[in-house]
Amino acid sequence: MKNQEIMEIDLKYNWHPCTQMKDHEFLPIIPIKKAKGIYLEDFEGNRYIDAISSWWVNLFGHSNEYINSKIKEQLETLEHVIFAGFTHSQAIKLSERLCKLTGLDKVFYADNGSSAVEIAIKMSFHYWKNKGKIRPLFFSLENSYHGETIGALSVGDVGLYKDTYKEILIKNITIPIPKDKSEEETKKALKKARIVFEKHHKDVSALIIEPLVQCAGYMKMHSPKFVKGLRELCNEFDIHLIADEIAVGFGRSGSMFACEQAGIKPDFMLLSKGLTGGYMPLSVVLTTNEIYSAFYCDYTELKAFLHSHSYTANPLGCAAANATLDIFDNENVIEKNKEKSKYIWDNIQIFKKLPNVKEIRQTGMITAIEMIDYPWQKRMGLKVYEYGLKNGVLLRPLGNVIYFMPPYIIEKKEIDKMIKTAYEGIKALND
Ligand SMILES: *Cc1c(COP(=O)(O)O)cnc(C)c1O
Repeated sequence: MKNQEIMEIDLKYNWHPCTQMKDHEFLPIIPIKKAKGIYLEDFEGNRYIDAISSWWVNLFGHSNEYINSKIKEQLETLEHVIFAGFTHSQAIKLSERLCKLTGLDKVFYADNGSSAVEIAIKMSFHYWKNKGKIRPLFFSLENSYHGETIGALSVGDVGLYKDTYKEILIKNITIPIPKDKSEEETKKALKKARIVFEKHHKDVSALIIEPLVQCAGYMKMHSPKFVKGLRELCNEFDIHLIADEIAVGFGRSGSMFACEQAGIKPDFMLLSKGLTGGYMPLSVVLTTNEIYSAFYCDYTELKAFLHSHSYTANPLGCAAANATLDIFDNENVIEKNKEKSKYIWDNIQIFKKLPNVKEIRQTGMITAIEMIDYPWQKRMGLKVYEYGLKNGVLLRPLGNVIYFMPPYIIEKKEIDKMIKTAYEGIKALND
């Protein structure tokens, strides 16, 4: 079958995520037949560099031989089992590794990022309730994104996704972010944060942040010092810190976890996306013994965390995650990425010369090129997206921001092609 035929059947039945479906009257849906390494291949044999790691999940390429083999092995042993009253060796192994890597003590599983956010905010609120305090509010950062379910959307701040639902969201209080990574802006923002903390802290359970990079928030970046300053405010005012590392975890930020660069430990850390190398839906909420112990008592005290998902700690997902961690153990991933980040940074300096580029920025394996403030109705990002596809690169701009978040296995000549395509796509907008 040809792409066109498949698309027609697709559109008859499927409602795609984060999409105005009417766009597909002019914008083709691309049916992918197979994928290998950093390449996606459609039904007509066209290949696309997956420069956004299939929505930020893929780390070591599609159809990675090692991860494939570990999932197949697991499939022959145990595909799934209830995780209440039962356990299995993949989850035990994974939890032990994640605790060692993060310095946290306990792992609660879910199956997607938004659910992990819901769990963390419920757990934090519930912790305070178990301690006899009712703290119904949450702090979150300006321009933040934490997912699309009601609780996660509530603590987010991207109007495009949130505004429609404002009448049905839970209450949160927004803290301003620094304009950039500079010391001066960081200090200014922390001063403003302190004022908000002073005013509301008694009613607030937790502050939730995306450390270092607000990915869905147009790839805005801040310094590790900002994260450290927020940790200190949380300590001072006795509020939990939830680090949402769903997008930046597993090396994306340049270190295994972004919190490492700030030298801090959160009360909750949320991981998903890269957790399984981009293979399976799985997420975790890591927390401390201190939090855990507030729920640990006789059943009749009714303090248990009675939250669950059907696919909690799915063994296939855990096997994919363990295989992904094996690769981190066996290959010098973080160091090798540093070289690649630098290569990308050196090679995007030319974008500064384009009259329609406002800023370039990078944190680890996340590189963003912000164009001038084109009115959103013009959908200039979409034009770059279309240009990319025509030229064999999947870029998926966020408004006027074009970014690269490729699988870590990308090679120099593929980086060259990715950059060249984005450059020409942005340049073409001036013509
Ligand atoms: C993607 C994302 C989420 C939501 O994860 P889903 O699996 O898409 O529900 C939450 N937080 C951040 C920072 C994300 O990037």
